[in-house]
Amino acid sequence: VSDDRTRSYWGWGYVEEHPDEDEVQALRERLETEFGFPELDLVDAPDLADVEVPDPEIEAPAHLDFCTQEKRSRVHHTYGDGYRDKVLGVRGDFDAAPDIVARPESEDDVADLLEWASDERVAVIPYGGGTSVARGIEAEVGGGFAGVVTLDTREMDAILEIDEESRRARIQAGALGPQIQDGLAEHGYQLRHYPQSYEFSTLGGWIATHAGGHFATEYTHIDDFVESARMVTPSGTVETQQVPRSGAGPKSNHFMLGSEGSLGVITEAWMNVQPRPEARSRATVRFSDWEGAVDAIREIAQARLSPANCRLLDRNESTLFELADHDDHLLFLGFESLAGAGSTRENLSEALSMCETHGGECPRGPIHGDRESDEETPEDRWRSAFIEAPYVWDEFVRLGVIFATFETSITWDRFDDFHADIYEGVTAAMDDACGTGHVSCRFTHVYPDGPAPYYTFMAPAERGRELEQWRQIKQTAGDIIDDHGATITHHHAVGRLHQQWYERETADFQATLRAMKGALDPAGIMNPGVLVDDTE
Ligand SMILES: Cc1cc2nc3c(=O)[nH]c(=O)nc-3n(C[C@H](O)[C@H](O)[C@H](O)COP(=O)(O)OP(=O)(O)OC[C@H]3O[C@@H](n4cnc5c(N)ncnc54)[C@H](O)[C@@H]3O)c2cc1C
Repeated sequence: VSDDRTRSYWGWGYVEEHPDEDEVQALRERLETEFGFPELDLVDAPDLADVEVPDPEIEAPAHLDFCTQEKRSRVHHTYGDGYRDKVLGVRGDFDAAPDIVARPESEDDVADLLEWASDERVAVIPYGGGTSVARGIEAEVGGGFAGVVTLDTREMDAILEIDEESRRARIQAGALGPQIQDGLAEHGYQLRHYPQSYEFSTLGGWIATHAGGHFATEYTHIDDFVESARMVTPSGTVETQQVPRSGAGPKSNHFMLGSEGSLGVITEAWMNVQPRPEARSRATVRFSDWEGAVDAIREIAQARLSPANCRLLDRNESTLFELADHDDHLLFLGFESLAGAGSTRENLSEALSMCETHGGECPRGPIHGDRESDEETPEDRWRSAFIEAPYVWDEFVRLGVIFATFETSITWDRFDDFHADIYEGVTAAMDDACGTGHVSCRFTHVYPDGPAPYYTFMAPAERGRELEQWRQIKQTAGDIIDDHGATITHHHAVGRLHQQWYERETADFQATLRAMKGALDPAGIMNPGVLVDDTE
């Protein structure tokens, strides 16, 4: 991707795409007047030239000539894109910079690096696009290591083969979303995996984190598209079989999916690809009653109508995104010819009647195919806000506002109590830590047995104490999730951020995971502290 724009060294995307000062001022006024936040002051991140990084503790041997210790590269690879990362970035605190950044061009390079690192006890952190929001790529590895190398996969970004007969493509792990999209489009295909971070995240990162795509049901998670994959581990290279499905024992792809760099480096995968959809139908439904909306969605999911979009925004969320002309909960429903059987028109019509039964109203009616009118729907506004949102999040940090998200999945029978506890607990935690705050919810994915609710919280922080305040709220949310037996992450990954809850969630599985790590990574150098935590 050739581009003249400058990547932000501490925040999201390109510097040039961030809101201008007038827009930031409008955001500040909105937070103060609409949300009652106290007066906010805006700070700037230091210039990169003024940022200091510690002297590296190790050097790479000469034969690993794809390694660098250049400051800019070390700074860029220090943090992901979560709230904490941005706060430290704006403070210019890059004490956690890795000693070395490696940019291997081949599997042999990766194997050479892992061999040296195992011998010298150097921690290795696989890095794709660096969009982790769970502290998955941070060089915090505890004592016991000579140093840390961040292994950036971006030099391995090609689409190597397309097998049109079987509709699959062999793609290298370092390819970014748009590279995959453009490369497959030339052949009339798409991967159909669109996480919100799509522009800056990689195939390898998606596979390593069980990434969730934009679509609400059916084929949307990266897991749905991986046919087979290759991973270079300190013990050698492993490759899973290229077959549509196998009944032979536990599924071998599954130790790569969600491995988060703790077992090895995923280098490439055969991915199932699909043609572009032919028909589309969509509608926006308003609900005055939250329970009615939840019941309608459950019915739609259990009828297996397979909507591509089934995004429910509660009224706090539609307020946050400035979508609410009414004080309603909004449901964006969409059907595509690819997802599920049946015509998109019929499926939408059936889903709309389910909504109606539960009090939903669709004043504008359904839209089939391309829109005929120029009138902007709330869904159009949502879509633009969704794409711009990561840029705006950076401005919250500059304004001294805690702005963070968490997500989970839980069965329908437990959802109502869980949701009530989250609202109550997180609101109380924000009041306690910050004096006030705002929490909101949307469903990103829905399943026949339960939803994946996604929560956003924002609260005014005290400069200098914002991480302590954020941690208090995050801890409350994580504990409520754990108490209800929900998962600590539906798609954001475990990383270092969620490790404490992950260990509780998978207590019965930890010994097996350790055994697997011991076999593939005997020296324990791969992303220490993630999934298996032996850090001191
Ligand atoms: C604004 C924003 C929106 C987001 N939206 C979504 C979303 O819609 N859906 C979603 O699922 N997530 C989302 N995320 C989280 C993040 O984008 C995903 O976790 C993504 O899959 C990470 O990909 P990456 O290439 O950036 O990986 P990185 O952030 O570089 O790494 C993530 C983890 O994967 C490991 N890893 C990376 N590459 C490899 C490899 N080749 N081999 C082995 N391990 C590897 C790393 O060690 C780390 O543990 C979002 C994040 C942001 C900031």
